Amino acid sequence: MSGSMSKQKQQARPRHVPQRTCVACRRTDAKRGLLRLVRDADGRVALDPSGKRNGRGAYLCHSPACWEQALKRKGLERALRVEVLHPDDRAALDQFAAGLPPEEAER
Ligand SMILES: [Zn+2]
Repeated sequence: MSGSMSKQKQQARPRHVPQRTCVACRRTDAKRGLLRLVRDADGRVALDPSGKRNGRGAYLCHSPACWEQALKRKGLERALRVEVLHPDDRAALDQFAAGLPPEEAER
């Protein structure tokens, strides 16, 4: 099989991958690279590992520093348009953030 001379097609356009932005550091990444948080109709906020829940979403890196910033400096509240996180939700997110592995190199 010899290759055909099909270099005519211009494939300059990369395949579209939706980019999300971390609410803390503003790093953009493909959806999979960031953790999604969702605010539901009741104003409750939770992690959305499936990425499919309805509601207003916000994204954060896997970086503990970003979580700390988002939780302490109300970046999350702002991004999700909630006045204040429900204490239970906040506790759950704090706990999740505490369990994140320390900064590691990108794979
Ligand atoms: Zn970040």
